[in-house]
Amino acid sequence: GNRTDLVNMNITELNNHYVSLKDRYEDYKKQNMKLDMSRGKPCSEQLALSTSMLDIVTSSDSFKASDGSDCLNYGGVDGIPEAKALFAQILGVSSNEVIIGGSSSLTMMHDTLSRAMLHGVYGSEQPWGKHSTVKFICPSPGYDRHFAICELLNIEMIVVDMLHDGPDMDAVEALVSQDDTIKGIWCVPKYSNPDGITYSDEVVDRLANMTTKAGDFRIIWDDAYTVHHLSEEPDRLKNVRSACEEAGNPDRVFIFCSTSKITFPGAGIAAMAASVENIQYMRKQIAVQTIGPDKINQLRHVRFLKDMDHVRSHMTKHAAIIKPKFELVLNKLESELGGMNVATWNKPNGGYFISLNTLDGCAASVVTMATDAGVTLTAAGATYPYGIDPRDRNIRIAPTFPSLKELEQSIDVLCICIQLASIEKIGL
Ligand code: PMP
Repeated sequence: GNRTDLVNMNITELNNHYVSLKDRYEDYKKQNMKLDMSRGKPCSEQLALSTSMLDIVTSSDSFKASDGSDCLNYGGVDGIPEAKALFAQILGVSSNEVIIGGSSSLTMMHDTLSRAMLHGVYGSEQPWGKHSTVKFICPSPGYDRHFAICELLNIEMIVVDMLHDGPDMDAVEALVSQDDTIKGIWCVPKYSNPDGITYSDEVVDRLANMTTKAGDFRIIWDDAYTVHHLSEEPDRLKNVRSACEEAGNPDRVFIFCSTSKITFPGAGIAAMAASVENIQYMRKQIAVQTIGPDKINQLRHVRFLKDMDHVRSHMTKHAAIIKPKFELVLNKLESELGGMNVATWNKPNGGYFISLNTLDGCAASVVTMATDAGVTLTAAGATYPYGIDPRDRNIRIAPTFPSLKELEQSIDVLCICIQLASIEKIGL
């Protein structure tokens, strides 16, 4: 843009600008809008892409899995073979390295860490919970529900900055080499929530190779957006299973994903992958918790998604629906705020979010102001452990659910609020 840098406006210009922004803000307030940019949910057009899946397993279809097991009955604690094969393709691992779960990968992550606290993981000398403190590295900004799991399980969170190609590995390596109570790290390695960053090969290799003081350290590799591209030239993520194997740390990584944003959130299927030793260890524990997951839904998904090629073409349809939404947000941010030096934002090649940083100390007031004008945003601080953003600057924008018109208005309000908060911060 060819706008004036707000910081360089003279006092009269700034004053006039502030008054006109305030007018626009008050106008919006009067409209009593109810807009929401806080939810990382697919919109109804996206959900419609998968409704025909519901016609696939009907009373007149076969309910047999490829191993002959009856999907209407108990059994198959780690999933039917064809579901394991599908997720093995998606995650770049072998079928015998996969466990299929229920409908939520978050549940699998929660349960995995709960079991680690109670019993340890494969190779642990004692349950994690026996240590007086257990710590996790939390690259931030990150996914608030990961942090909520740590809070619930009383796992202390250590913030490490996200850089342009993944977590600050100098900091990560220094931490894990010295402290055997640091048991893990949260990673959203592709199109990260919220930054939309994909880890570089170097970051993957350093995670796989780093020396950890804890012998039973685990990387929680939440590959939630692994096939969720927005660009014809998708980001490429190095295979972490192979990297760990090559590094001589084959048991270091637990990989998770689900079809929540491929088919239906809450009614998809989730999976985890890890070394065969890890998988065998956990399968025994899971067999105590359940006699088997919903195999009918697995059958439905496998018959609908078929293989990696079909998954790819299905995801292209998602991209066609949501790409214009991302573009609208990015174009509008540029036209309203470009050149002003009041905010920076990422341009993701995939995933569900646009991450925006305001000037330090402005995010909370921007979110409050936007809420007062009818635009709900993810709570400021939510992308940091304990809800505390040390620089109070990160705002997560979720563009997929609202309509284009709603997005346009919401971003308009957001840009007004960012400018108002910045001027108030700089001082008139
Ligand atoms: N991980 C990440 C990074 C997410 O953004 C989300 C959904 N917002 C989830 C996990 C939740 O996945 P599921 O629906 O499989 O529990």
